[in-house]
Amino acid sequence: MINSTKMNHSFLENKIKLGFLPTPLHNLPRLQSKMGKYNFYVKRDDLTGLAGGGNKTRKLEYLLAEAIAMGADTIITAGAQQSNHCRQTAAACAQWGLSCHLLLGGNKPHSYNGNLLLSHLLGASIHFTGEHRKGEDLQFLKSQLEADGKKCYIVPYGGSNFTGMLGYVNAMFELKEQIEDQNITIDYIFFASSSGGTQAGIAFGNALSGLNTKLMPVAIDKSSPGEISMGQTIAELINEAKIKFEWNGLIPLEDLHLLPDYNQSGYGVLTSQEAHAIGLLAATEGILLDPVYTGRAFYAMLHQCRQGLIPEGSNILFWHTGGLPANFEYADRLMHYL
Ligand SMILES: *Cc1c(COP(=O)(O)O)cnc(C)c1O
Repeated sequence: MINSTKMNHSFLENKIKLGFLPTPLHNLPRLQSKMGKYNFYVKRDDLTGLAGGGNKTRKLEYLLAEAIAMGADTIITAGAQQSNHCRQTAAACAQWGLSCHLLLGGNKPHSYNGNLLLSHLLGASIHFTGEHRKGEDLQFLKSQLEADGKKCYIVPYGGSNFTGMLGYVNAMFELKEQIEDQNITIDYIFFASSSGGTQAGIAFGNALSGLNTKLMPVAIDKSSPGEISMGQTIAELINEAKIKFEWNGLIPLEDLHLLPDYNQSGYGVLTSQEAHAIGLLAATEGILLDPVYTGRAFYAMLHQCRQGLIPEGSNILFWHTGGLPANFEYADRLMHYL
């Protein structure tokens, strides 16, 4: 798969099978005729399988392989109540016979919907953690479960560490092969970036595979002052990967740079922009985006094109990272706009 013999790439083999891979890569002819001047493609990681699909499936193939190799019987992770990551973790645990504990921010709602409902159906133990929204209680729960004799493995928030990012390093080799098979060129890749593992994997894999496509990661979260910047998180993950892979090539600085202008309403707040993007792709191509991540990233792509910031004639890939179940939780807000 990888040509260089010098590089240490054994990491990419340490995975279990969770997804139906490769996911499809296809063009978007009706969107193309609507937007003119551009050739649009989509990489369908909404179709990875795993109880509704999404980008976390690829990360979990590596993370759970590590957990199982370490002898874990219990997986703990954290996220928002509508976390796609938590839903896919719950599904993966069910498939591999592992107990799953989810720490979800906020208070227990009156009724379950979207991803929360699915995580519950998938058999996960759900703990509502109030104001602790980013997994602050992971270690505490781990020590409690260990006192009961469980062997615990913590999957970090969003599955974004070195092990998780391998899913997207591998995905770039998958994409490269498909691009070659279909005899197409891709000039730009747009995708949503939130906890950073997907972007770090895509950026590192982009260089490692020699694909060297221009990356257009769209910032989903509005960072609060004093927080470590996304660019910093990505740079640290990539540095760790360079050391572990013993690879010392260059990653262009702009691959770490996020499109900053589309997160102003804050994480998970649907505006007319995301709703417009969801409605447009659904009605022109029959493909469903999500209100939190891909709706925002797809809007960003449309906006960059309409503003003329992308050269005419470019081949543009949208990497669909999933998220369909959250639409049901946003039903009222979607109906308000569409
Ligand atoms: C988690 C998620 C992302 C962002 O991926 P990160 O690796 O956390 O940056 C994008 N889209 C969807 C649908 C997601 O669930």
